[in-house]
Amino acid sequence: MEKNECIRCSVSQCLHNIASEGYCSLGSISVGTHEADPTVPECTDCNSFVRKDGCCQ
Ligand code: SF4
Repeated sequence: MEKNECIRCSVSQCLHNIASEGYCSLGSISVGTHEADPTVPECTDCNSFVRKDGCCQ
């Protein structure tokens, strides 16, 4: 995996995350929202997230 210096990310539970460096390894990501009218960053989601095997248990 190579880091994409354009996409910083701290979600170490994601398969695409390079936790040691704090970057995403994808060439591009898809971002969306789970809110009808988003107002703060917490309203948005990375839709490219894939759970890493063995984490989050
Ligand atoms: S796919 Fe999304 S959540 Fe996963 S490392 Fe990349 S930016 Fe982070």
